[in-house]
Amino acid sequence: MRVLITGAAGFLGSHLCDRFLADGHDVIGVDNFITGSPENIAHMFSNPRFQFLKLDVTNFIYIDGPLDAILHFASPASPIDYQRYPIQTLKVGAMGTHKVLGLAKAKGARMLLASTSEVYGDPQVHPQEETYWGQVNPIGPRGVYDEAKRYAEAITMAYHRYHGLDTRIVRIFNTYGPRMKPKDGRVIPAFLTQAIEGRDLTVFGEGSQTRSFSFVTDTVEGIVRLLNSDYTGPVNIGNPREYTILQLAQLIIERYGKTSGIVHHPYPQDDPKIRQPDIDLARKVLGWEPKVELETGLDQVYEYFKQIYEKNGTFQG
Ligand code: NAD
Ligand code: UDP
Repeated sequence: MRVLITGAAGFLGSHLCDRFLADGHDVIGVDNFITGSPENIAHMFSNPRFQFLKLDVTNFIYIDGPLDAILHFASPASPIDYQRYPIQTLKVGAMGTHKVLGLAKAKGARMLLASTSEVYGDPQVHPQEETYWGQVNPIGPRGVYDEAKRYAEAITMAYHRYHGLDTRIVRIFNTYGPRMKPKDGRVIPAFLTQAIEGRDLTVFGEGSQTRSFSFVTDTVEGIVRLLNSDYTGPVNIGNPREYTILQLAQLIIERYGKTSGIVHHPYPQDDPKIRQPDIDLARKVLGWEPKVELETGLDQVYEYFKQIYEKNGTFQG
């Protein structure tokens, strides 16, 4: 296949590029580096099957030659990033998705949208299954991301129904792994880098809110299976093993940061209080379920951050 991946220089996008190259496909990566980094894709440039284009997908996208599939992963994803870039986040979810769908239609390509568990907002149904419509505050600080993704799902389904476009929607739950930015503010990079620095771990609120963490190789496998399936409705991809944030902090201190303590910060507005994917659909239609235990995945991210820290002496800059 000849595959276009938007958000290629980001955390998930770069792992997807690696996976599609490893599977023998030609990959065109696209990114404007708003939250991603050239370092994530530098190792791919020696591969003749990899091509990179620096562009903002909210503008018209011109691609030479045929395309078989487009994976639309461009979007700030960490709460710190999308609150720093609220307009760009709305634009890439809305206008960017529109441009990508138009390109897919022109090329006759299959289009897979990276959606998110955030479409369920602060859920009243637990665990979250795909049939749940969610509880989102459109005007709160997280609304820029949640509503952009909800719109992206809506326009994707409109292209599917109206134009007959071949589309897929993956609702990704908290995924972690190497190449996350050390200080992107998401909880696993935050806690691991704090443990490495010997600082206290910043637990927001009491830490009774829950999340369920999927290691990047598991998430990528689920995405590839979804792309290759014929299922066109949204599919949850995530790890159902659920932790409170306090449990996560204690696990990380126990394993990597015995000199660190815990400091409580105010609970962020609209931060979902519970989150756990129901993955029955993914099991059924993709034959997929996650394999990597949290401790095993954390060890890999810890090593990744420790190397950065030892090289630079700091996580700043
Ligand atoms: P990331 O910030 O590491 O990657 C996003 C990439 O998109 C960055 O490289 C950024 O520069 C690029 N980008 C943003 N706007 C762009 C634009 N207008 N034009 C071109 N490139 C642009 O984040 P991530 O964690 O890798 O997330 C990737 C995708 O997966 C996002 O769409 C996100 O919503 C989705 N997702 C991720 C998770 C997760 O846990 N990591 C969970 C749910 C959904
Ligand atoms: N969190 C925390 N301390 C931090 C960063 C995050 O307690 O330093 C909490 C945050 O309030 C949320 C959970 O960890 O309840 C997951 O946050 P993250 O930003 O990783 O992802 P999201 O909220 O988008 O699931």
